[in-house]
Amino acid sequence: MAETEIRPTNFIRQIIDKDLASGVHSAIKTRFPPEPNGFLHIGHAKSICLNFGIAEDFGGTCNLRFDDTNPVKEDITYVNSIKEDVHWLGFDWGGEAKYSSDYFDKLHGFAVELIEKGLAYVDFSTQEQIREMRGTLKTPGTNSPYRDTDVKTNLAAFADMTAGKYKEGECCLRAKIDMTSSFIVMRDPVLYRVKFAHHHQTGDKWCIYPMYDFTHCISDALEGITHSLCTLEFQDNRRLYDWVIENISIDCQPRQYEFSRLNLEYTVLSKRRLIQLVTENHVDGWDDPRMPTIAGLRRRGYTPGSIREFCKRIGVTKMDNMVEMGMLEACIRDDLNVNAPRAMAVLEPIKLVIENYPADKSETLIALNHPNDESMGTREIEFSREVWIEAEDFRETANKKFKRLVLDKEVRLRNAYVVKAVRVDKDDAGNITTVYCEYDPETLGNDPADGRKVKGVIHWVDAKSGTPAEFRLYDRLFNVPNPAAQDDFVSAINSASLVTKKGWAEAGLAADRETHAWQFERTGYFCRDKDSRDDTLVFNQTVGLRDTWAKIGD
Ligand code: ATP
Ligand code: MG
Repeated sequence: MAETEIRPTNFIRQIIDKDLASGVHSAIKTRFPPEPNGFLHIGHAKSICLNFGIAEDFGGTCNLRFDDTNPVKEDITYVNSIKEDVHWLGFDWGGEAKYSSDYFDKLHGFAVELIEKGLAYVDFSTQEQIREMRGTLKTPGTNSPYRDTDVKTNLAAFADMTAGKYKEGECCLRAKIDMTSSFIVMRDPVLYRVKFAHHHQTGDKWCIYPMYDFTHCISDALEGITHSLCTLEFQDNRRLYDWVIENISIDCQPRQYEFSRLNLEYTVLSKRRLIQLVTENHVDGWDDPRMPTIAGLRRRGYTPGSIREFCKRIGVTKMDNMVEMGMLEACIRDDLNVNAPRAMAVLEPIKLVIENYPADKSETLIALNHPNDESMGTREIEFSREVWIEAEDFRETANKKFKRLVLDKEVRLRNAYVVKAVRVDKDDAGNITTVYCEYDPETLGNDPADGRKVKGVIHWVDAKSGTPAEFRLYDRLFNVPNPAAQDDFVSAINSASLVTKKGWAEAGLAADRETHAWQFERTGYFCRDKDSRDDTLVFNQTVGLRDTWAKIGD
């Protein structure tokens, strides 16, 4: 797609420019640190484009690092899906992916160092007591009775913790910082907890696991990360990030910078909620095309380029924001408008019988694949006596604004002839089942010879050769712009978010495994779904031709 050549700029890139100019850094190193406890979503794409994009543009490197300190919620399936999605978005981490768990030995060593320096202690208070002693935003915390345990006792207790002598919740290792700090994260935060859990990378080697705040900064330092970019909710945690690095023997000082997370209207971007949608079967798995996951967007027909372009357009700031879904849709529409070949499909068919066209005849017509791009070539389409048209493209009577087929009036069948409707068949309920018409054999590629004006053009599919198809039309997954703000976000699910239609597509599509997506003329952009079967193709509507949503909102 035509991505703008201009490099985006933002406050983080300006900081990097300054660091390079002043010689604080000579090379830039970033990382993308997902926790493998769910699939990646469009919010993660923002972080991926920022971290990998910076590395690319400044000639640096970006690590993919799994932040895997919570084995209970993590799974290798998520590890694999995350790798696939980052690659699919067009980025590469160079070499092996990294894991925080690669550093468990070193992290343990640094914990011992803090104990030796009198900066960490093993606390046998209950979790409840620890919570109470922490205080609130308005009241300072209080010291734990274990806070002044001597170094030797702490070292022995930590060794016992490591050896599995304590039960989960029986004790934990805490940093000794300041129980009166105005930053609650600095009130003797927990560094290690006991957890007898099997880990997807380290197996059963450990029964204690380090906390995020202790792990992340050290992992960054060990990897030589220069700029550690995270979302705003970690702003306070920066104090702890710096405290840990300053108090251990490590000669690298990464800096953390925070930016605002992406919020997108009419969807949810929290893994906890996305998992709930999947496990409670509100959607058909992580890659349901209504999901804001990368896997869902891919199945919906989004291209990597369109997602990267979206991330460029939304930019990176420190301001909380809620982005309209139309912004995302505009990116894929702009892409497919240029790159998707045109084809014809009928979603809600009625039969059109051309009575003066011989029953045993078929002919091959030539259609342009793209009206504005000759390089996309032409294709052959079959035409015969019976074709499918959209039910909504025919009316028995209509005023002049209806530029489609009306009884006794003419319309052009796209890429084919002008036809005139002469009569209809109806079923017992009065629904039109068949429209009969006559065609003008002189109108293939020409206007009618006698100067008759035919304004309307409708699409069609040849009934003899057409291929049966199922069309899945998607709408917003939620009825409200900010479902996360609801007490019960599940109750805001839009029950009409998936509508399925059964119709026909032109014959050539059945064998076409190459084309990423088509514009079905007058209908929308569609891609072939993996559920396609030998006897029925299945298409997902990626996006409509226009932003009808914006109009409804007026
Ligand atoms: P969630 O709240 O969905 O569980 P998370 O922040 O816990 O998200 P991680 O796997 O830890 O998920 O995220 C990896 C990286 O992606 C982090 O640096 C995080 O800040 C970033 N990230 C996650 N969600 C968003 C978002 N909505 N917008 C921008 N960046 C995000
Ligand atoms: Mg996280």
